[in-house]
Amino acid sequence: MTSGNRVLIVGGGVGGLFLANALIAQGIEVVLYEQASAFGEVGAGVYLTPNSVRHLIRVGLGPAVEEVGALVGEDSRYYRFDGREIAPVQVADPSGWNATYGMHRADLVELLCRGLPSGVLHTGHRATGFEQDGDVARVSFQNGEAADAGIVVGADGIHSILRPIVHPESKPVFSGTAVYRGLVPREHLDGWRPDVWQMWLGAGKHFLSFPVRRGELINFVGFVPARGIMRESWTAPGDPDELRQEFEGWDPRIADLLAHVESTFRWSLYDRDPIPVWTKGRLTLLGDAAHPMLPHLGQGANQSIEDGMALSLLLGASDPVDAPAALQTYESLRRTRVAEVQIGARRNGMRYDSMEGDLERRDAEIRAHAEFRRELYGFDVVQQVTEVLQAPR
Ligand code: FAD
Repeated sequence: MTSGNRVLIVGGGVGGLFLANALIAQGIEVVLYEQASAFGEVGAGVYLTPNSVRHLIRVGLGPAVEEVGALVGEDSRYYRFDGREIAPVQVADPSGWNATYGMHRADLVELLCRGLPSGVLHTGHRATGFEQDGDVARVSFQNGEAADAGIVVGADGIHSILRPIVHPESKPVFSGTAVYRGLVPREHLDGWRPDVWQMWLGAGKHFLSFPVRRGELINFVGFVPARGIMRESWTAPGDPDELRQEFEGWDPRIADLLAHVESTFRWSLYDRDPIPVWTKGRLTLLGDAAHPMLPHLGQGANQSIEDGMALSLLLGASDPVDAPAALQTYESLRRTRVAEVQIGARRNGMRYDSMEGDLERRDAEIRAHAEFRRELYGFDVVQQVTEVLQAPR
């Protein structure tokens, strides 16, 4: 590929970095520009599920995921706020394959960076402008540099600067929920297992814990009603005492965990409505830039990995002159699936917070939800792309 044939990715989060790995596996030249001066130091637990882990394995990252992840097992449970059991948590796909991992986001970002050839990753490059003509696209950066490519992928997260070029009308939707998030070393805790995902559900609130980093750390997330509006931010600090008060009187295991919290992050949750178009000429969107979603299905990172797998295969199978058409195919394959997950995440959040009042009905819905998860995890975007590529034209 000349510069007109290579792929330029803006944003080095999970989505952009996975795409870089997947494009290289297809033999496609790629460059990635990230605004931060270093990769992935911020964040806590990210949930990986079979529908994306199968692609990490395909690009050769399976052993690395096994090495630093925490495999989440079948003893995972939903509980009522006081610890009464509601239902098991679905961790396997329909074939019974369990590849559900708790990952520290920094570990995931590190393993995605590790195998990339030198010259692919460029930190300290904040994209500020985009232009394109019939043959080439150009991204300009705040530091005065610019770079050309045949395809540009906006993987620049929920506050994407490239999304408005594709679709100007997309506004953040405030969920009314704030989250506290943090990590506690498991060695400080009595009886906490390294392999269970647990969620406690109460009126208007819920509390989640799962292990990360081989089970050495327990990631927790407390979802509470937001009091006042805060900007979407991964780095805003929260008050550990306020967090403890929010969950006072809940299952004593939560108090045991929170007694060890010295610092926490707190922010409000936003998503956006599904947008009707992701692509304009040589520019397309991926991950949160295309479809920011609430975390109530744990699918943000997983859907961005599915996006990357689909896009890399379609570009790998297309002649470089047809690359803009491959972007259209990518968008049409991904938009419906991802919109279902975005909307499903909103619904699940309502269910978790028992907003409908009838707890017996809510508990029955949680039990029935296992079927939805099985299907979500069984989906293989490679099969879908293969069918499209093999269909008669
Ligand atoms: P993101 O992960 O948001 O990545 C977008 C990347 O683009 C970022 O690295 C950002 O710095 C970069 N970027 C943005 N604008 C520009 C620009 N103009 N020029 C160049 N680069 C740009 N999810 C969890 O479940 N748990 C967590 O603890 C968690 N922590 C996070 C911490 C941070 C700092 C971030 C950015 C995201 C975090 N997430 C977390 C979100 C989660 O990673 C994403 O929802 C999901 O992985 C989809 O990833 P993405 O690559 O589409 O977007």
